[in-house]
Amino acid sequence: MRTITFLQPTRLVFGQGCLEDCVEYVALQAQRRVRVVSSRSMRRVAEELGSKLTAKGSTVTFDFSIDREPTLAMFAAALAEARAVNANCFVGIGGGSVLDVAKLLAAFAESEQKIEESFGIGLLTGRAAHLVCLPTTAGTGSEVSPNAILLDEAAKLKKGVISPFLVPDATFIDPLLTRTVPAAVTAATGLDTLTHCIEAYTNKFAHPLVDVYALEGVRLCAAYLARAVRDGEDLEAREGMARASLYGGLCLGPVNTAAVHALAYPLGGEFHLAHGVSNAVLLAAVFRFNLEADVERHAAVAAALGVAPKGSATQTALAGGRSSGGVGAGVRDFDESGQLWLVSGCSASFGGQRGYGDAAAAE
Ligand SMILES: [Zn+2]
Repeated sequence: MRTITFLQPTRLVFGQGCLEDCVEYVALQAQRRVRVVSSRSMRRVAEELGSKLTAKGSTVTFDFSIDREPTLAMFAAALAEARAVNANCFVGIGGGSVLDVAKLLAAFAESEQKIEESFGIGLLTGRAAHLVCLPTTAGTGSEVSPNAILLDEAAKLKKGVISPFLVPDATFIDPLLTRTVPAAVTAATGLDTLTHCIEAYTNKFAHPLVDVYALEGVRLCAAYLARAVRDGEDLEAREGMARASLYGGLCLGPVNTAAVHALAYPLGGEFHLAHGVSNAVLLAAVFRFNLEADVERHAAVAAALGVAPKGSATQTALAGGRSSGGVGAGVRDFDESGQLWLVSGCSASFGGQRGYGDAAAAE
């Protein structure tokens, strides 16, 4: 068995209401010139967190500028402001874009390195500032991963920094924070999680230590994604998807993703598609293309999605592939906001009246 390295936050806290644990945690840190990085949609929650941190003795400033997938220019502006207030502790509270920016701000706040020199694997030279992440969507896994993505608008390309220095010092996953996420975003981010887990499990670098997270993440998506899309207040579903996102994120460092993500980045960069939408468009086709390379593993994914065993592993895997074709087929319903097809594709393919396997059988 090949050697594998897991990089995880030193402190990983999971549970409803654990935002309060974050307040206690930051109060104990030496670095307390806190920069709360968030988006306008999470402003109320972020400001509440900020006032609690202030009450515990931290100096708190805010950045609410990350309200879409971040570009190089957005990052440069955010970095200049963070440096101006001399922040040395970054608390990201938001979706994957917010967390990615918080991670990069923490790395570059006190660094001489240029962001352009860090794109790639292992090129980041260090991180001096403290870094805390609180995800408010269930999807990107950024809360535990060593990855961060920025859009290079001139090149129309999404570029990634992958580095151990981007793994947060502490992550607080509070499913209560995801209750207000709109259905379309829940669907898109959930399909990103599903893609992380499927790509890790069917990856040629797949590893038994990661398989457990990947397969369980697929099962959780099958059980809870449609429920979370239909009813945002379904806390059991929100908690299930928060776990799925975490498991997907734990796959991202040691095994990482594959063709869906490789193709999704240029697709998203060119057409300004949200990351989860780009993945969902490609997932079915890549699943079918890769299937014959490892039938057993694709059959295991199909089973984790709820496909009943067929006569052979190939048939089971194909049923999973046809079923994931249900997601791809939703592209026909793609409206400008991306909402219609994501919600309908998600509902049709992940439970509801027809389970994943049943949908495949009906095709
Ligand atoms: Zn992803």
